[in-house]
Amino acid sequence: MPEMTPGTALPETPREFGFFVDGKWHKGQEMFDRHSPAHDVPVTRIPRCTTDDLDLAVRAARRAFDDRRWSGLSGGARAAVLLRAAEGLRRRRDEIARWEVLENGKPVAQASGEIDHCIACFETAAGAARLLHGDSFNNLGDGLFGMTLREPIGVVGLITPWNFPFLILCERAPFILASGCTLVVKPAEVTSATTLILADILSEAGIPAGVYNVVTGTGREIGQALTEHVGIDMLSFTGSTAVGRSCVHASANSNLKKLGLELGGKNPIIVFADADLEDAADGAAFGISFNTGQCCVSSSRLIVERPVAEEFERILARKMEKIRVGDPFDPETQIGAITTETQNKTILGYIEKGKAEGAKIVTGGAALKTGHGRFIQPTLFSGVTPSMSIARDEIFGPVLSSFHFDTLEEAIALANDTVYGLSASVWSKNIDQALTVTRRVQAGRFWVNTIMAGGPETPTGGFKQSGWGRETGLLGVEEYTQVKSVHIETGKRSHWITS
Ligand code: NAD
Repeated sequence: MPEMTPGTALPETPREFGFFVDGKWHKGQEMFDRHSPAHDVPVTRIPRCTTDDLDLAVRAARRAFDDRRWSGLSGGARAAVLLRAAEGLRRRRDEIARWEVLENGKPVAQASGEIDHCIACFETAAGAARLLHGDSFNNLGDGLFGMTLREPIGVVGLITPWNFPFLILCERAPFILASGCTLVVKPAEVTSATTLILADILSEAGIPAGVYNVVTGTGREIGQALTEHVGIDMLSFTGSTAVGRSCVHASANSNLKKLGLELGGKNPIIVFADADLEDAADGAAFGISFNTGQCCVSSSRLIVERPVAEEFERILARKMEKIRVGDPFDPETQIGAITTETQNKTILGYIEKGKAEGAKIVTGGAALKTGHGRFIQPTLFSGVTPSMSIARDEIFGPVLSSFHFDTLEEAIALANDTVYGLSASVWSKNIDQALTVTRRVQAGRFWVNTIMAGGPETPTGGFKQSGWGRETGLLGVEEYTQVKSVHIETGKRSHWITS
């Protein structure tokens, strides 16, 4: 563990934010401090909004939607704002990355790379805004012409988690804005800064007042109130499956708002004996350790063909031991701090459960003693059986459970033996094998001989209890529209009443 040398990156006093409604900053009546998870010093001061503040935001978003100041623009005009925002992100890349590091604990090199992805999201959404269209039906006979219109659904509530505060925001917000909807965003309480900074960037880019609003506060108060709010037409929620379920109840018990849900995962990485084992081990080490495993698409179940299983675990453990864990402001750091104390306890708790249930630690298995912050070694468990809690539960940390298989059918069955279906990865040089697994394993995102690859052009989302709907790509804009069917009669009407 290298010395912590964040230098001037740490603020002398916490940066204070307001919340953002109707194009204006508002002062919070109550505030709370966020401490850097790697350095234990207060870094931001965020408003604890009230439900009155939320109502204010929903009313502003409703006015902005109803008077068509945004939805009434051409797709090209909305695209122009999104492209100017992409430029704003480019200009403020280092600043945004810094606040991501300070609130989340992720390495600065990774955070900067994520901002590049976010810029691509804005650019992709801008293209989609121009291309969004309905359809026409010229096959209804000469007397009737049909078409479908895609109309924005209205006011969208967006609730985001703390693991990728800015990236998940940018995989949603520009696509929602591209559709013509207006937004009320509630970021995770521990990582609100960059969602608020985006308000500044969008305003500078010329977004009309009331189109992008941010209220901050806890999930139990503001998040829950947003899910129940009758002024919200659609809710996009990214977070745990448990809260996703409560969003379904809240929608059912309020106004049946449409839901987009991106929830948990327990994602398989399947390695066949004919794979390039060095490549696959690098992919597996990255897949479980990236973002300290606090990643919905982490590949947390290794399913490896028995004849190479021991050798593969050895190669993988060697690689995991070389991962550079430490000060997120060191440009060489590959994994940083665990974002919250609760999550730290959860991960260490699962490591203890794994040991108690009889799984064997191949590498890792402990917290790093640094005197400040929270860091956990990348951990590999072998001899895991499907009933163990480390096999079934989403740990959301750098803890990988290894299973062995003998046949293709067994590999597929193990991969599908979960309530989740978010992502999967398969490693094999045999195209038949790789394609069969790809077609039969239930997951919304799939990687063959790679992992966590791809950009905002393709849609993301989950099968089974990993969620509903899709984000990003053209589908990620269409998700926030509703289809209206229109019939137009041409010529003289054929009368119903004839006498
Ligand atoms: P969480 O569900 O506790 O919190 C997510 C967000 O919901 C936060 O903004 C929180 O304030 C809010 N929230 C909490 N309780 C709420 C309630 N009762 N009503 C409304 N909102 C509420 O999840 P988390 O701990 O922040 O994130 C970890 C989980 O998120 C993991 O399960 C992970 O898999 C999932 N996740 C999924 C994706 C994805 O794209 N599928 C991405 C990131 C995280």
